Amino acid sequence: MKMKQSKRELKAPFLLHGGDYNPDQWLKYPEVLKEDIDLMQSAHTNTFSVGIFAWSALEPEEGLYNFEWLDKIFDDIHSFGGKVILATPSGARPAWMSKKYPDVLRVNAERVKQLHGGRHNHCFTSPTYLEKTEKINRKLAERYGKHPALLLWHISNEYSGDCHCDNCQAAFREWLKEKYDENLEALNDAWWGPFWSHTFTDWEQVESPSPNGEDGVHGLRLDWRRFSTDQTVRFMENELVPIREITPDIPVTTNFMADTPDLIPFRGLDYNRFADKIDVISWDAYPTWHNDWETTAELAMKVGFIDDLYRTLKDQPFLLMENTPSAVNWHPVNKAKRPGMHILASMQMLAHGSDSILYFQWRKSRGSTEKFHGAVVDHDRSPDNRVFQEVAELGKRMEKLAALQGTHRAAEVAFLYDWENDWALEDAQGYGLDSKQYIKTMHAHYRPFWKQDIPVDVIMKDHDFSKYKLLVVPMLYMMNNQTAEKLEVFVKNGGKLVMTYISGVVNEHDLVHNGEWQDKLTGIFGIRPLETDTLYPRDRNHVLYRSKHYEVKDYATVLELTGAKTLGDYEEDFYKGTSAVTEHAYGEGIAYYIGARLEDAFQDDFYAELLKTELINSPVGITKQEGVSIQVRYNEDSLFVFIMNFSEETRDIQLDQLYDDVLDGGNVEGDIQLDSYEVKVLRVSK
Ligand SMILES: [Zn+2]
Repeated sequence: MKMKQSKRELKAPFLLHGGDYNPDQWLKYPEVLKEDIDLMQSAHTNTFSVGIFAWSALEPEEGLYNFEWLDKIFDDIHSFGGKVILATPSGARPAWMSKKYPDVLRVNAERVKQLHGGRHNHCFTSPTYLEKTEKINRKLAERYGKHPALLLWHISNEYSGDCHCDNCQAAFREWLKEKYDENLEALNDAWWGPFWSHTFTDWEQVESPSPNGEDGVHGLRLDWRRFSTDQTVRFMENELVPIREITPDIPVTTNFMADTPDLIPFRGLDYNRFADKIDVISWDAYPTWHNDWETTAELAMKVGFIDDLYRTLKDQPFLLMENTPSAVNWHPVNKAKRPGMHILASMQMLAHGSDSILYFQWRKSRGSTEKFHGAVVDHDRSPDNRVFQEVAELGKRMEKLAALQGTHRAAEVAFLYDWENDWALEDAQGYGLDSKQYIKTMHAHYRPFWKQDIPVDVIMKDHDFSKYKLLVVPMLYMMNNQTAEKLEVFVKNGGKLVMTYISGVVNEHDLVHNGEWQDKLTGIFGIRPLETDTLYPRDRNHVLYRSKHYEVKDYATVLELTGAKTLGDYEEDFYKGTSAVTEHAYGEGIAYYIGARLEDAFQDDFYAELLKTELINSPVGITKQEGVSIQVRYNEDSLFVFIMNFSEETRDIQLDQLYDDVLDGGNVEGDIQLDSYEVKVLRVSK
């Protein structure tokens, strides 16, 4: 299966700069709305997402619509050449709806029906909510579908959560009947029914997981999360019906999230299941810059990982739909971005494939929970403050980068990431309950590539593996036979594959593979994992690899070699002298297995060696110091090279050739210095 590219492309006349605009909060302040239009131009912004939570302004009473205010916003933004991203308002609903149609309200896992309030808390199965969202979306599409300012649809907002109401329970049972072909025995087999007498004899006995009910059947938990994703996707598809019908040429997106504070991919929904339903991937990025537990460069590496994941979902440029020009209001500590950080962080987004820098939010609200969330326009309403000035400066620089729009990234290295695997690994009652850390393990293996400026795609198990030279598969605990077969074909045809401990343990039902390690994996890797030793947090072992000693913590898998050769051996404990790291020639390729959780220095040295052997290099020959990231986008005739200093020190850079300096003008070559948080964007013909 190919990556899910869309034919309905975003046709923007510029890199998008702007963000969430909530004029519905300011309808009683016409002077503010007028001021906004002037300030938008002063800030060098051009695109605004409107209507995200505007349902009560659009339909103040059931069936009574008020679009005049939005007409004016469309026209005013259009008047200065700006574009509108029009949101469907389903992220929050008016109080009249909850009161009259209580089936729209969500029921939580404890089976408590929620009251009206907040947002993102509706039932995705509710017949009322499906009907009402379809209807308001139809009205919006009819009214604005042909407006020249309309650029893109923003479907709902940050879809998340699940609902356990009776409608959802019934839908879950129907989903299961379809999945298991109406065969309850197949469900019982998949869920390991006889354990603790959990065999079902009637579909009506099946209920969603609950902390005060069934919470330990892993197959049920996994299927519930799959169902909740599918139910959200179905809800979104229902929202799309009038939009596709009335505005077939306008692309759509829905904004994805990341979980903080560690900035990991959002775990609540399998975003891969959304990828072929939308035309453009967009996400909301709120890294905790300048925190007190990691370096700026370390956090930048994590941002790079998610960018590479979300971009690869459709293998095309993505949009940064939300970020803050300064602080947010919902981190434990809401620290302002230091001078330069906003431009640096924005350039990183562009470098990894974004065609936009959009904010939440344009103007700070006066009341309620988001009144202190960072915005382009602060409560002082002044264009003179530091944050506004940095936004305007970024806008000017983005205007110089217009040619970047639509350019690509190219990677010879891919990481395999899987949402379902994350869920199953989290459920696994075994290993170390706190030390499994799927994403941290991903980061540990991704970091050396980021440090060496090697472009990486983060792919899904249904993507094409064959376009990559090297595929890295950390902790793929859940692996079905099809994935194992794809890995086999990849290596057989000459691919280099790296897999780690705790991979290939359970199948797609979260049932442990029956018997020894899957024969296919044994064939590929030439090993059998005999047992995985889980260590206490302060336990250590060591591995000797290429005459150097590397520290092992958390996990040490003991291996039997059935054809592989050893690259590194354990140095302590009852498996002292046995293999920890192996290499196996298979077909035209090579499969490497890393059996232990090793310190970062090991990953640095292991991958450096592999990259050298495989002739995988950074796309440019620029040398740099620690904390500097170099990322490249390209089109048919040019390379755009972003050199970004994420360290707190001045850094020396040695350029490998003559470049055009896109931001500062003129040419540049030889040795240059970048101040802390400084960025250069260089261009060279291919
Ligand atoms: Zn429900």
